[in-house]
Amino acid sequence: MGNLFEDSIHHSICECSSIEHTLRFMHNKESGEIYTEVFLWKHKFLKRLWVGIKYIFGYKCQYGHWDCTMMYHKETIKLRDYLDKCIKENKLYRENNEH
Ligand SMILES: [Zn+2]
Repeated sequence: MGNLFEDSIHHSICECSSIEHTLRFMHNKESGEIYTEVFLWKHKFLKRLWVGIKYIFGYKCQYGHWDCTMMYHKETIKLRDYLDKCIKENKLYRENNEH
């Protein structure tokens, strides 16, 4: 049994090239599900504590609690091609396992 996610991982790189903004997609070929992962920067304890306290008390900066990944043409084409491949594989998997 091979790796379930072999040849099924795609990374979308942010235009700013920050590793923190990288999106990772993993396609489970058996279930057809696509998992999305984001990079979480590991800050020192006091920084995490301070951010947690601000979050608990509802503090919001101008960006809210979200970060973003900017994708222009080249990255959007690569993401579209990846999703098209996942859809085709899901269809093929279902066709081969219906009977
Ligand atoms: Zn970025």
